[in-house]
Amino acid sequence: MHDGSTGARGRAGRPRRMLTALAIRLAGASLCLLAIPATSGALDLPAPTAAAPDQARLEAIVRKLASPEMEGRRGAGAERTAAYLVDQFKDLKLEPLFDGRFTQPIPGKTPGAIQGTNLGAMIRGSDPRLRDEWVIVSAHYDHLGVRRGVLYPGADDNASGVAMMLEVARGFATGATPPRRSVAFVSFDLEEIGLFGSRYFVAHPPMPLDRVSLFITADMIGRAMMGVCKDQVFVLGTEHAPGLRAWLDESARGRPVRVGLLGSDVLVLNRSDYGPFRTRQVPYLFFSTGENPCYHSPEDRAETIDYPKLTAISAVIGGVAASASGAEETPRWSPTPDNPFDEARTVRDVLRTLLDHEQALKLNGAATFLMRKALGDAEGILGRGAMTPAERSDLIQVTRLILAMIQ
Ligand SMILES: [Zn+2]
Repeated sequence: MHDGSTGARGRAGRPRRMLTALAIRLAGASLCLLAIPATSGALDLPAPTAAAPDQARLEAIVRKLASPEMEGRRGAGAERTAAYLVDQFKDLKLEPLFDGRFTQPIPGKTPGAIQGTNLGAMIRGSDPRLRDEWVIVSAHYDHLGVRRGVLYPGADDNASGVAMMLEVARGFATGATPPRRSVAFVSFDLEEIGLFGSRYFVAHPPMPLDRVSLFITADMIGRAMMGVCKDQVFVLGTEHAPGLRAWLDESARGRPVRVGLLGSDVLVLNRSDYGPFRTRQVPYLFFSTGENPCYHSPEDRAETIDYPKLTAISAVIGGVAASASGAEETPRWSPTPDNPFDEARTVRDVLRTLLDHEQALKLNGAATFLMRKALGDAEGILGRGAMTPAERSDLIQVTRLILAMIQ
């Protein structure tokens, strides 16, 4: 997840919101430790058994990507990661996405220099009428590297998303029926320095962007917002293609994770790789479990990932991608946002959970005052079963303010 800064330095090197961040970090250090589940420690990938995302395999991929060998996936570590991911694409017998290559080099400022590399593979659609339309499942693989000798493993940010992408790819590659539309699996580089990889991709796309039926990206899907919203995954983007909600509902039904719909304007800036696709009006879905106390810290380690949750979210994404790749028609981009009424429920649930953990999170008086007011507003909206545009605007403004205060 990009920290919203415009410079090349990540949040780890910036004083932004230092006091509140420090308070949360202090509260969060203990939450991180509490969240450590028992793990196997295995680095080798188990053999595939089924098309559904496999928890052991997801964990093995996260552990591999977050290991010291990958050096926080920047510089030489990013190159090593890219080589590993290309091997995974080849093992799955996927076709290369970029003119016979799995790699898309991103030129640097000086002639001949390369500053990063996007990765991509594909499965050609089986339906002659639909195979020129595309579904993209993506996750950035770069992270913050090693700083002053300290490894930033980036297990949640974004080894979790990359593991999902590979497992969804495996589901398609080993599925009984091939997809009707073509499906691309993309891992962007240079997300952390300002979405450079995805910006370059949309400027040099391997397929016409107006033939992309759905772009899906996931960034940080292995934890809980603020360490406490344990069963939620947030999904942004349905406001521009409301028809996607039925697929999401269907895919999430019965799984141990709750989909919290939000409009993308809840985040002030485009915080991940959906941004360049949103600008080009490509229907998109952005999945994230949100910022948490380990965000952009050396504590973002593989031991503290919630693997059952990552597995459930990967299955939800795989289901939506399957629907999009097989449907006769896919939802078109609607320029006027149709914001989901469910936003009020999402905001209410998050606020209730955060307030339940008021002590552990060391929330200050101003934050809890705002949160209680916003909770009352959300409950009122849900009680009436309707939300006016003005009410929505207020709810989003106060949610943004709360996020700025507590993260
Ligand atoms: Zn990040």
